[in-house]
Amino acid sequence: MSVTHTLASLRDSLSASSRMPLVFLGHGSPMNAIEDTHYARAWTELGRTLPRPQAILVVSAHWMTRGTTLVDVSAMPKTIHDFYGFPQALFDQQYPAPGAPELARDVVTLLASHHSDEDDSWGLDHGAWTVLKFLYPGADVPVFQVSIDMSRGLDHQLEIGRTLSQLRDRGVLILGSGNVVHNLRAVKWGAGATPHDWALEFDRLFADKLTDRDFAALADRKGLGTLLAQAHPSVDHYLPALTIAGASDDRDDLTFMTDNIDLASVSMRSYVFHAR
Ligand code: ZN
Repeated sequence: MSVTHTLASLRDSLSASSRMPLVFLGHGSPMNAIEDTHYARAWTELGRTLPRPQAILVVSAHWMTRGTTLVDVSAMPKTIHDFYGFPQALFDQQYPAPGAPELARDVVTLLASHHSDEDDSWGLDHGAWTVLKFLYPGADVPVFQVSIDMSRGLDHQLEIGRTLSQLRDRGVLILGSGNVVHNLRAVKWGAGATPHDWALEFDRLFADKLTDRDFAALADRKGLGTLLAQAHPSVDHYLPALTIAGASDDRDDLTFMTDNIDLASVSMRSYVFHAR
């Protein structure tokens, strides 16, 4: 597998393949949605680089369920402002993309062995819309979310990814949104805070195992040990990174982007798997 760190090389590789790439984005603070950040610019550039999908399936850290995997089948998913204490300008944001009810129902069937079910009450949480607004600013590509089942092990999310991967050949972009390292208890405020050693270590380990396609190691709680507990006191932001890994196969190349750590404990590492 070839690994690159520039969108220019990604652009060359994409033109050759009809299979949709897979995208994982570290979303970080909701404020990224309304600020002119390095991330916002990278997401905008990525949106211009990716082929236009038929639909987007989003696995976000912020839709957690237990004992079931829900799929939003609504025709017009609402924009959810699932945060507190932020400026009004952030609550005023809307991402009015249509849903994809028919495809979403197909996904319920596809995930039947994972206790899947239809849902029409969720919509688009900030894990989805704060990045989608840069990827597809016209909000004109149908989009729907699939929840993460917090009652299952890490390897379950790899399996969900494997099952969803066939959608790549139907023009569906699978987008994971979370963070490779996410420990809000260990945040250090202020620009340029020195990352915690364990944050750097987990981020590096993740990148190495992802590059080696050793996904079993990324889902091995025992093997990851205390490092996982430090990087993820709760694994909600980690699971979407595993979904995207699980949906890739050995025909894919890998491109990393925005691999820095914010506030000492939130990795903004993002990546794209794309067929050769
Ligand atoms: Zn988040």
